[in-house]
Amino acid sequence: MSDDIHEVYAIRYGQHSRRSPENFIGGDPHDVLQPLDYFVWAIVGPSGTIVVDTGFDEVMGRRRQRQIVKPVRDGLLALGVAPESVETVIISHMHYDHCGNYEVFPRARYHLQDREMAYGTGRCMCHAHQRIPFEVDDVVAMVRKVFAGRVVFHDGQDTLAPGITLHHVGGHSKGLQCVRVNTRRGHVVLAADATHLYSHVNEGRVFPITYSVAETLEGYATLKRLADSPDHIIPGHDPLVLERYPFARTGLEKWVVDLTREVGSRQ
Ligand SMILES: [Zn+2]
Ligand SMILES: [Zn+2]
Repeated sequence: MSDDIHEVYAIRYGQHSRRSPENFIGGDPHDVLQPLDYFVWAIVGPSGTIVVDTGFDEVMGRRRQRQIVKPVRDGLLALGVAPESVETVIISHMHYDHCGNYEVFPRARYHLQDREMAYGTGRCMCHAHQRIPFEVDDVVAMVRKVFAGRVVFHDGQDTLAPGITLHHVGGHSKGLQCVRVNTRRGHVVLAADATHLYSHVNEGRVFPITYSVAETLEGYATLKRLADSPDHIIPGHDPLVLERYPFARTGLEKWVVDLTREVGSRQ
């Protein structure tokens, strides 16, 4: 295996039942059940295991009325990844569902965009509306990691390791970044919340929580440019991910899927 080819897994840890009008600016005329799934992702390769986003825990789930399906830690262990041994965590952005569980990775350094930390600690947080997806304890925990020498900042595009690059997207959150990974099926893009659902990027629709609608729409073009095909874009919250990709191994059905196998293939 070449030294820039990686395995990529999506690990589902939570879900939230809701109707489709809640998922789009302007609502949705169909008004159907359209739940969101919550994921973290694991990139496994010659650079070790890199975790993308850290999810939230049971306490936060109750507070936000979201259901934990399987704790993040359990999903990683099921995949054979010991969280305490993980040295690299990428944080797509600092919304509560992407940067909690901050005691689960005691050895990790956290990779974050400059603009996300500035956004989450600056004047925009003076506004209640902008604060909605943030939790002060999450932000404080990240500041503490800065002072502990455990945050690596990025500005725009950067190479994390051979075959793994970070790309600022903005839009949904000011410093949101996506992750492009070279795999045996080509370049896969972990979009995180650069597109919550396939329908956002494919139909040019926008999730209601957004720092900038214009940047969100431009972000869709970025995702398409970075991915080898539309099927190489992995949305951050779409339950279809679990149907389109095969489970990583027996016992992980509807829980951990392998994003490096062809869409629709089954093991
Ligand atoms: Zn978000
Ligand atoms: Zn999210």
